[in-house]
Amino acid sequence: MYNPKSLKAEEFICDEEIKETLAYAEANKENVELIDAIIAKAELKKGLSHREASVLLACEMQDKVEKIYDLAEQIKKEFYGNRIVMFAPLYLSNYCVNKCVYCPYHIQNKHIPRKKLTQEEVRKEVIALQDMGHKRLAIEAGEDPVNNPIEYILECIKTIYSIQHKNGAIRRVNVNIAATTVENYKKLHEAGIGTYILFQETYHKESYEKLHPAGPKHNYAYHTEAMDRAMEGGIDDVGLGVLFGLDKYKYEFAALLMHAEHLEAVHGVGPHTISVPRVKKANDIDPAQFDNGISDDIFCKITACIRLAVPYTGMIISTRESAELREKIIRLGVSQISGGSRTSVGGYQEEERPHDTEQFDVSDQRTLDEVVNWLMKAGYIPSFCTACYREGRTGDRFMSLCKSGQIINCCHPNALMTLKEYLVDYAGEETRKIGEALIQRELEKITNEQVKKIATERVCFIEEGKRDFRF
Ligand code: SAM
Repeated sequence: MYNPKSLKAEEFICDEEIKETLAYAEANKENVELIDAIIAKAELKKGLSHREASVLLACEMQDKVEKIYDLAEQIKKEFYGNRIVMFAPLYLSNYCVNKCVYCPYHIQNKHIPRKKLTQEEVRKEVIALQDMGHKRLAIEAGEDPVNNPIEYILECIKTIYSIQHKNGAIRRVNVNIAATTVENYKKLHEAGIGTYILFQETYHKESYEKLHPAGPKHNYAYHTEAMDRAMEGGIDDVGLGVLFGLDKYKYEFAALLMHAEHLEAVHGVGPHTISVPRVKKANDIDPAQFDNGISDDIFCKITACIRLAVPYTGMIISTRESAELREKIIRLGVSQISGGSRTSVGGYQEEERPHDTEQFDVSDQRTLDEVVNWLMKAGYIPSFCTACYREGRTGDRFMSLCKSGQIINCCHPNALMTLKEYLVDYAGEETRKIGEALIQRELEKITNEQVKKIATERVCFIEEGKRDFRF
């Protein structure tokens, strides 16, 4: 029945296989020999199967868990260096016809005003985001074929890409909208989107159906098979995710990795990113109503085990998590974070953070400048790079760059050049000072002398007013 190559949800996310995996992991969670062998395999940095990774997740031996954390950190450094890519969500509309019981946008919630941005409002939001320094957005919308049809989403993408404001431009629009048809994915692809992101919420079919009692999202197979349709439509960067807290985390973890294995088996390329959101408090939503909330420690362990299992996949942490937790978890393998986020429709134009249409409570409420400053002090390079996708390095072409270890001569200088743009155009005084010193130090680390020379020159050109360089 289990078949990673099948295009049927229930065959590539096979309940029986997940249950057997969990039983195997439980039976072996103290099997030192096996655990050491799995860690040794992970040290080769070529990934782990869902079964192997599940054993590590089940293991509670403290010395082994420390080893897993250290290795996650090492893998992150090797493939992603100390760069952290920055992005912000942009909420277009909270109209929704679904009944997702964890989401405040559910159709029965009468406590929130329904809003949908006009194109003029999209412009204002994007200008506000550009003035913060953002170059990469993830657009978000509820599912509503009448209020938010694909034509509306496409129009918004066109508007976003068209706005040149001062030295700013949004250079990559990722899209997080409900599962749709191959035809619509083709249209999104033609509109030049970056990653198509869709969270599975839960892989457990029975829970999924209860948590999505009505509306188009109720259909488990249609939702679970969405990434295959997206890839059929030409989108080769897709982002997976689970909403942790809805069902048992070990089940979700195994299934998430099976989903990644499925994409690799069928399309030859795994997910571009994996997001690990946790259910948060929101209007009409109390996370305590879900029994499966996970502790910060388990959350860190999940992140580290994902890092070991899929070394080439980017990992995203949003402002759902607090500054403290983000600091702890970034070192375990996270490569992208949001900053300065507002999760309400039209929220960026407001002076004060509005709560009326917020999708969830934002824990990390710092400004983008504060987040950039904090990252640099913690030894990271905040990157506003969007080069790969604009150079056509998507799907397996991105993965091969990552696998060949060329990141240091490509992503690293791109990060430094885009950080330089940020410092010159948007940063506060202290942030700029820290950043300038960091750029000088980091330029020295570029191993290819020719690349180092060009990058150093370009950093000077940016100071003089030129923009948008990339390798
Ligand atoms: N409507 C689209 C869909 O159904 O896939 C995607 C957009 S939705 C705005 C983005 C994600 O927010 C959802 O996939 C869900 O995982 C997450 N979300 C919803 N309610 C949440 C809550 N209370 N706390 C944290 N995340 C939540």
